[in-house]
Amino acid sequence: MLKPNLRYKELKDTYLFNTIYRKTNEYLAKNPEKTVLRMGVGDVSIPLCEPVIKALHKAVDDQGNKKTFHGYMPEVGDASLRKAIKEYYAKFSAKVEEDEIFVSSGACDDLGDILELFDKDNSVLVIEPAYPEYVDTNILCGRKVIHLASGEENGFLPMPETPADIIYICSPNNPTGAAYNREQLKVWVDFANKHGSVILFDAAYEIFIEGEDIPHSIFEIEGAKTCAIEICSLSKTAGFTGTRLGYTTVPKELIREGMNLNEMWSRNRETRTNGISYILQKGALAVFTPEGQECVHKNIDVYKKNASYFMEALDTAGIWYIGGKNSPYIWLKCPDGMSGWEFFDYLLNKIQVVGVPGDGFGECGKGYFRFSTFGSPEDTKEAADRLCKLLKKG
Ligand SMILES: *Cc1c(COP(=O)(O)O)cnc(C)c1O
Repeated sequence: MLKPNLRYKELKDTYLFNTIYRKTNEYLAKNPEKTVLRMGVGDVSIPLCEPVIKALHKAVDDQGNKKTFHGYMPEVGDASLRKAIKEYYAKFSAKVEEDEIFVSSGACDDLGDILELFDKDNSVLVIEPAYPEYVDTNILCGRKVIHLASGEENGFLPMPETPADIIYICSPNNPTGAAYNREQLKVWVDFANKHGSVILFDAAYEIFIEGEDIPHSIFEIEGAKTCAIEICSLSKTAGFTGTRLGYTTVPKELIREGMNLNEMWSRNRETRTNGISYILQKGALAVFTPEGQECVHKNIDVYKKNASYFMEALDTAGIWYIGGKNSPYIWLKCPDGMSGWEFFDYLLNKIQVVGVPGDGFGECGKGYFRFSTFGSPEDTKEAADRLCKLLKKG
């Protein structure tokens, strides 16, 4: 009799977003005349930009023509796209080579697959509040997860304490929006090198970073190439959540027990994928052109303006929050000692604004709340106005 992977029983169900959805719909069923503003979701709303759409259309035509048709693409990614990503990295003074960059179908996919490089007995450190996938993927392969709690006392940016073999760092962070500066990341890199750990650095929100003090890539930090893998994606940076393309950087200097993790990942890709669609890689290539970058940054500015509406409302009401600056998320402390779910119900019932209770991202998220700035400017402004009026009244 086949034995299934019993560890699926250990996963928490996807309770958070299901509950938000159910509560919102129940409210609407009872109050059909109300407009609910959904300010919780971590999905983009602005369509792909013009240079990307043009490139996608052209690539579709290429595939219909004998002369320009492409069959299987290289498993590690098309050479021109790897080169463009390398040049993008160079803008942040992160020196990575083409053959250290692997084109992927998105960060989520690679965050799961990358674990195939490591032994099951490795320990894992997850800084919480965290993106739930870090914990779930490790539970499924039977690894022990050490939770490192963060909080207001360290600005949700804890520094290393307990050594672990695999260390997840998401900066700028989902859900908190907190971002490590150079000095802090250097401490993590030194810690990882000292203990022989590997940092899995999730850079999904790098494009939101403002100013010089926060690195866009961990490879801006000296020593990172012997201890870090970076996982990034065009999902949030270029609106590719439904289009799907990402990239993962595994340095050639990353060696453990005589094994080169770059070569292992290359081998893994040959086994696990037949490459990313020619069409999507052409679309992605357009993101890295000057016209593509200009468009993409214009869209990010729209989300940043949205963040400013929320930040103004919270400043006026005197509510503690972080994020919004280097991130599309705002992480606030629920007022009057309310729990995340109490605050959720309060906002839904009083002003029909929906956010995400912090509880879903780990124990230490309790009593906090996440707003996303990925909605339309009209809805976001309206939500922030309603929030401001409600919280000022107390
Ligand atoms: C959205 C997000 C990603 C991107 O995932 P994709 O699979 O590329 O869409 C990665 N990490 C975090 C923390 C995210 O919030």
